[in-house]
Amino acid sequence: MSKLINPQETIKVIQSNDFKFQKRFGQNFLIDESVLSNIITSSNITKDDCVLEIGPGIGTMTQALAEAAGHVITVEIDANLIPILHETLKDYSNVTVIHSDVLKLDLNELIATYNSGKPIKVVANLPYYITTPIIMGLFESSAPLHSITVMVQKEVADRMQSGPGTKDYGALSLAVQYYSDPYIVQLVPPNCFIPRPNVGSAVIRLTRHSDSPVKVINDRWMFKLIKAAFGQRRKTLLNSLFSGASVPKEDTLTALRDMGLSETVRGEALTLSQFASLSDLLINYCSD
Ligand code: SAM
Repeated sequence: MSKLINPQETIKVIQSNDFKFQKRFGQNFLIDESVLSNIITSSNITKDDCVLEIGPGIGTMTQALAEAAGHVITVEIDANLIPILHETLKDYSNVTVIHSDVLKLDLNELIATYNSGKPIKVVANLPYYITTPIIMGLFESSAPLHSITVMVQKEVADRMQSGPGTKDYGALSLAVQYYSDPYIVQLVPPNCFIPRPNVGSAVIRLTRHSDSPVKVINDRWMFKLIKAAFGQRRKTLLNSLFSGASVPKEDTLTALRDMGLSETVRGEALTLSQFASLSDLLINYCSD
C-alpha cells in the first residue's frame, strides 16, 4: 500500500471507496508531508512506545505512527472508514483499529490491555468539535499518559497556552496547565487538509507533569470554582463564586483578604496557584 500523505493518494482512496465526508465528525484529512513529519518528530515516539491515535480518517497519520512506534491503537467513530482502514493499514502488523466513539472508551482498561498499564503517548489530528471533552477526558481519567501531541484549532491552542490577564485565559488554560506543560509546535494553514477547514490550526504538545505544579486539597473542588469564575467572566469573583458554586460572599471576601487580593478581583486575574490557595481556603463549601 502506498503512502497516503499527499493530495493525489488521498483523493484516490476517497474516490475509489466512494467515501463521503461527514461534517458532523469533523473530517479534515491531513495531506501535508512536512506537517506530518513534524508531528511525528515532536511527539518523540520510539519503537518502545504504544501510541493512541484518535480519529485515523483513512489512516494517513496511522501509517507514519506505525513506522515510528512499537504499537498503535487507533479509534475511529465512522463505520464507513473501518473497511478503508483495514485496506490502507494492511501492511502494518502493529496497528489495532477500534471502531468506537473515543469519548465512550475506558482508557485505563485500553492501556491495561494493550500496554500492560504502562504510560502511552496520544497523537492525533483531532475532530475539532470535541477537542475540549477529549483533552479533559484524557487528563481526568487519570490514565497513564506521557504526552498528548495533537492538531487543534489555532484559537484552542492559544487558550491552552495563555496566562492570567489575557483574553484567551480561562478554564481550559488552567486545566491544561495543571496537568501538563503545553508547547505549540507549529501553526498549520487550511490548505494542508482535504477538505479545507474554515479556521487555522496548530499542533500542540502537552507533556504530562510528573508532579502537579501546585498542591491542592481537592482538585475537583478547585475546578468547580474555576468553572464558576469563568462561567460569568465579567462578574467579580465574589459574585461568580456565589452564583456558580454557592460560596457565601463573606467567606470569599475573607479568603481574598487573606490572599492579599482586592474584593473586586475577577477570575481572569488569578494564577493557577492562587486558585489552588482559594480552593483550600473555601474547602468547607466543597460537597464531595
Ligand atoms: N487522522 C486523520 C488525518 O489526519 O487525516 C483524520 C483526522 S479528522 C480531523 C478527525 C477524525 O476523527 C475523523 O476520521 C473522524 O471521523 C474521527 N472522529 C470524529 N469524532 C470521533 C469520536 N468521537 N471518536 C473517534 N473518532 C472520531
